[in-house]
Amino acid sequence: MSVVNARAIFGPHETFVPYELERREVGANDVAIDIKYCGICHSDIHHAHNDWGGTQYPLVPGHEIAGVVAAIGAEVSRFGKGDRVGVGCMVDSCRACDNCEAGLEQFCREGDVKTANGTDRQGRPTQGGYSEQIVVDERFVVRIPDALPLQAAAPLLCAGITVYSPLRTLGVGHDSRVALVGFGGLGHIGVQLASAMEARTTVLDLSLDKREDGLRLGAQDFFATVDTDLFKTLADSFDVVISTVPANLDMGAYLGLLDTDGTMVLIGAPDKPLEINAFSLLRNRRRLAGSLIGGMPETQEMLDFCAAHGIGAEIEVISAGQIDEAYERVIAGDVRYRFVLDVSTI
Ligand code: ZN
Ligand code: ZN
Repeated sequence: MSVVNARAIFGPHETFVPYELERREVGANDVAIDIKYCGICHSDIHHAHNDWGGTQYPLVPGHEIAGVVAAIGAEVSRFGKGDRVGVGCMVDSCRACDNCEAGLEQFCREGDVKTANGTDRQGRPTQGGYSEQIVVDERFVVRIPDALPLQAAAPLLCAGITVYSPLRTLGVGHDSRVALVGFGGLGHIGVQLASAMEARTTVLDLSLDKREDGLRLGAQDFFATVDTDLFKTLADSFDVVISTVPANLDMGAYLGLLDTDGTMVLIGAPDKPLEINAFSLLRNRRRLAGSLIGGMPETQEMLDFCAAHGIGAEIEVISAGQIDEAYERVIAGDVRYRFVLDVSTI
């Protein structure tokens, strides 16, 4: 057992405070990682504020972890001391079910073990990346290629894989017509990924405020959805529409954007159940789908793809004393495009 410095929150209305965290002994298959950076994901905030219920306090959030290997167990074969590595949303699973066997650990039949605010297979609470070190089984550790700066790679571990997986699953490639709904933490990475896959990429955001960034990152078009004529103009014109927003959209309007056999994918979860008129699906033989992060092999593939294409998150690095302020700014939509915690300030 080793004690490491962290930042924790003790209740839904509290602020972050310094905290000493115990990390388990490095087991035979474990990798101990000195965390350098940790991305701040909107779901950290939901957990910290107990928005979804069931938060275990004290909580150390963080599941976009980038760092360097500090030590390895005797059986570890894929990593060595000093390697640049990452950890995303999960740190374990049953490893034996059909989905685990297929590298889809996020859909483990027994449930995956969340990196933070979860319970490990020994029944202990898990604590995340707002801390100096973490110990993780090597199966759940990915390599961060040298071409990716650690701080820009951190958000790829959740935001990146969340948008990469549906693009790959749907076979997006040369001349695919892709629309990304929302241009924030997920959307700004999605634009880079889709355009690197040679798709014709369009952003649909609430306003044109971020248009310049969208075009710079590879979008061909950037439209504001306040313009209701837009949905008539763009009707039947996309193969894939990915909604990155947690808002309840007018599903008829967005499904109407899909051409024949097109698919709309939800990667953001609205609070209320969806309201859908079936006719908006029947026409053009449209499909509605969901997607949830990605498995470990696909997460590695995503990082390698990002390194090959020079893709990273656009970030604002913060110190440990700024976590509460960063949360307020994320809630207010005031970040371009991801906060990343500099763990050396803990
Ligand atoms: Zn996340
Ligand atoms: Zn499993």
